[in-house]
Amino acid sequence: MKIAIHKFGSCSGCVHEVLNLSDTLIKMVNEKNFEIVYSTLLGIDKETENFDISLIEGAVVSNEDIERLKDIRRRSKILIAMGSCAVLGGVPSLRRFASEQELKNVYNVIYVPHLSDASPLSKFVTVDYFLRGCPINRYELLNLLDKLSRNEWFKQDERRFLFLREKPLNLEGVALSLDGEKCIVCGRCVKICQEITSAIDYINRSFETAISTPFKVKLDESTCISCGQCILYCPVGAIVEKSYVTEVWKLLNSGMHLTAYVEPEVLMALSEALKLDVNGRLVTALKKIGFEKVVLWKPQTEFNTSDQLTILPSSEAEAIFVQRFYPDLVNYMAPPPRIKDNSIVWFSPCVARKLSGNLVLTTRELIRLLGTMDLSLLTKTQFDEIKMNVANKHEVEVVGMREIRKTLENIREGKLKAGRIVLYVCPGGCLHGGGQPLQS
Ligand code: SF4
Ligand code: SF4
Ligand code: SF4
Repeated sequence: MKIAIHKFGSCSGCVHEVLNLSDTLIKMVNEKNFEIVYSTLLGIDKETENFDISLIEGAVVSNEDIERLKDIRRRSKILIAMGSCAVLGGVPSLRRFASEQELKNVYNVIYVPHLSDASPLSKFVTVDYFLRGCPINRYELLNLLDKLSRNEWFKQDERRFLFLREKPLNLEGVALSLDGEKCIVCGRCVKICQEITSAIDYINRSFETAISTPFKVKLDESTCISCGQCILYCPVGAIVEKSYVTEVWKLLNSGMHLTAYVEPEVLMALSEALKLDVNGRLVTALKKIGFEKVVLWKPQTEFNTSDQLTILPSSEAEAIFVQRFYPDLVNYMAPPPRIKDNSIVWFSPCVARKLSGNLVLTTRELIRLLGTMDLSLLTKTQFDEIKMNVANKHEVEVVGMREIRKTLENIREGKLKAGRIVLYVCPGGCLHGGGQPLQS
């Protein structure tokens, strides 16, 4: 099989990944009767008219590129887009955010007098296979070439790390889970969790590196408190909350009379995400999809009104934290907020509330539930009821793990003896809860 390696607008990183296969590549070329007939990086040009396989790295950045690409397509039986630039436009497409003046300021002259944008190959020609990644996973390329050499069909949705992780490590939990096959081991979840409870960390080495709890126990059996902060930081969606969107649709379609309880932070985050004041419009939207009533609710715990010391966990996350790390203070703790009514769907910024036994949907799930509905076209409807906390002068809000630890230590040492201490584990409180929309 005649293989050509072409390069468009890119850094050559993917072609270097091919070359990094070194002996494995040479062995494959020999065994499979492959012949590399064109590669500028290798200095090969056998002036071949037609190619069995063309591997293309890079984005289309000029009119000449468009013509060259079409010519390669015409001459190739199989065309493979190799790497983020060829598949998506990649780094070169950042040029679309720079003005001509900005380019002049940085480079003095416009030395890229090409198209104002960089485009994926598929914009101009039919691509047979896409190898994603920056750079590509060279073992995925080997897998693909191996299958093509045996005339086998390479399924495009085959997992990228097939060769590397035959047994990916998945972490299960009641409120959230981690898909080891999607994980790119970037470590962002580990970093943020270090500020919470250090429930997860790297294990193994090299290709076997993965993210795990100690001894690979389930998340709920580790020190994880299900705050969901790691979900916010995962760039590839490998950690996600347990979703109950389908369950809610089933209930709505069954004709059951449902009431939506919406926390104020959901309204704020949704307004921010949609760049629209959703107050009132969300009520209309929820009624449109079948909710009978919509209530604005700030969750609160039933607790006694005396001024004796009471620790108020704002969700299961804080309650679990106190139970695991300060078990001697559990007697001071009230239960986290819960709703005793099966006809209520609770919309919350909080992932940990999924442990409450209530039907809880995060703000992210609410967005999925509303689908393509355009809230800007809706009129506003008032909430059927507003149930908010009555301010209490004995109440102190403690936000973030550092402050929580300090406060609980003070209670332990007898320095703090009275008052109602409300705990919020998420940095910045519920507005930055683990169930809020992901920032890009
Ligand atoms: S949910 Fe919170 S505690 Fe659990 S792993 Fe993620 S960041 Fe750590
Ligand atoms: S943040 Fe996501 S991709 Fe990165 S290590 Fe954690 S689970 Fe894996
Ligand atoms: S701070 Fe708010 S969002 Fe975060 S775990 Fe606590 S209740 Fe949930």
